[in-house]
Amino acid sequence: MKKTELFEPGLTERLSREREKDWRKNLRREISAQKRLTIPRHKMPEQPPAQRIRNFLEVNLGYSLEMAKEEAQRCLDCGNPGCVAGCPVAIDIPTFIKYIEAGELDKALDKIRETNGLPAICGRVCPQEVQCEKNCNLVKAGKEPVAIGHLERFVADYLSLRSELNIEPGCVNSSRGKIAVVGSGPSGLTVAADLARLGYQVTVFEALHVPGGVLAYGIPEFRLPREILHSEINFIRSLGVEIKTNFIVGKTASPSDLREAGYSAFFLGTGAGLPGFMNIPGENLLGVYSANEYLTRVNLMKAFRFPDFDTPAPAARKVAVIGGGNVAMDAVRTALRLGAAEAVIYYRRSRAEMPARVEEIRHAEEEGVVFNFLTVPVRFLGDEKGRLRGMVLQRLTLGEPDASGRPRPVPVPGSEFEVEVDLAVVAIGQSPNPLLVKQVDGLKLGRWGNVEVDSETMASSLPGVYAGGDAVRGGATVILAMGDGRRAAKAIDKFLRKC
Ligand SMILES: Cc1cc2nc3c(=O)[nH]c(=O)nc-3n(C[C@H](O)[C@H](O)[C@H](O)COP(=O)(O)OP(=O)(O)OC[C@H]3O[C@@H](n4cnc5c(N)ncnc54)[C@H](O)[C@@H]3O)c2cc1C
Repeated sequence: MKKTELFEPGLTERLSREREKDWRKNLRREISAQKRLTIPRHKMPEQPPAQRIRNFLEVNLGYSLEMAKEEAQRCLDCGNPGCVAGCPVAIDIPTFIKYIEAGELDKALDKIRETNGLPAICGRVCPQEVQCEKNCNLVKAGKEPVAIGHLERFVADYLSLRSELNIEPGCVNSSRGKIAVVGSGPSGLTVAADLARLGYQVTVFEALHVPGGVLAYGIPEFRLPREILHSEINFIRSLGVEIKTNFIVGKTASPSDLREAGYSAFFLGTGAGLPGFMNIPGENLLGVYSANEYLTRVNLMKAFRFPDFDTPAPAARKVAVIGGGNVAMDAVRTALRLGAAEAVIYYRRSRAEMPARVEEIRHAEEEGVVFNFLTVPVRFLGDEKGRLRGMVLQRLTLGEPDASGRPRPVPVPGSEFEVEVDLAVVAIGQSPNPLLVKQVDGLKLGRWGNVEVDSETMASSLPGVYAGGDAVRGGATVILAMGDGRRAAKAIDKFLRKC
């Protein structure tokens, strides 16, 4: 069978259902369910903490083929796979895992790519513990879930390392219509891939000089090596998607310029690049950064390789990071790697409410990050030159739940205290990027500047204009952005067929 055929949606239908059922039954019989239940979950091999805090290389080293096959044997191939229901892009998880068990890695990757064009990325950054793995039926049997994310990452890495991308270009049919995707983050890349597979001519416009959105400028290399990102973006390009960087829609060209150039549908995947601040005294001092700027300097401008690259990273001995999500974990772990002697997280709720991925919190703790819960800065303190020298913090306690359903932090009177700090990174959330969306007449926006859409189709208030990812949700996750992209692609196809 030709390789490209395997990437077409509907592959499963083309294989005889009966044949697949028999094949799986035989595979299941080879190892009894009882035996499968006794195999322990394989731990992800990692760089030791003392070594990794001195480099920007990936912390997780990946499974070997043997480990992956054995981990795949833990999957019971149950009749009612909760894991698929827990995946926002509905990857056929049991089937790809059974292909790994059988050693048919090409087929495993093809199966994943039917619904997910970024498997090496998702295998690394998705919060599997609250999605697919949470719903694994092994959990009901009192066992650890199958390491679905590690297996997804394994199969994507294994094949791209062995054979680069052994695929033929996608088959774009220019008469089907031209689609403009604004933003090359995971939502934009996903909608672009799905529409290119359907034969549309898709151009992704990206404001920055490299594609990938947060995957390129936000998530550090020690979690997501850039060659992995480039390899997955090359896969999307190979489907026929054109990516134009250094192109700000709304400045380089307006949406109406693009309409005149023949684009008949739009997807706005402009993300949530607007950093939030606390609006407390001293926030303008030198040495107080938004996480967005701090991480962009390091990830995109390669500050950690100064002077080989032009942009320096702010050097600091005592670093305070304010926040408890993935962004805060990335910033604090980056500061350690840049030589901070002390790197402290200040979070206003308790550990139980921290939104960061469990693995990121564990890694940060192993690396020596100090966590200060139920604490919030109330002002930054500067020296005579306007440079940050410290912060005044206040202790909090947890009260009744707020609108988010989480307990509201309540100040403890008289609990203020001072700490010495020479770099503070504010990582308390982002809101949607306003540059483009505020320029589009008639586009309905929500309270936080988010694009309002129909949640089934991702259609905005304007015909032919769709949106998804963080531009709609505020700061969310890679896989939710991708799920939005998939839904939007279906709806755009339907919309253009009617035109
Ligand atoms: C530091 C950090 C760590 C994170 N870690 C995780 C994690 O571990 N797991 C996880 O699931 N999620 C994580 N997230 C969240 C996740 O990365 C985002 O939810 C996801 O990237 C959103 O995708 P998106 O496509 O909506 O937008 P983005 O990834 O934000 O991409 C939007 C793109 O649009 C471009 N753009 C904006 N306006 C224009 C314009 N007018 N013209 C052209 N281009 C434009 C921007 O330059 C950007 O490249 C993290 C976020 C951050 C900031």
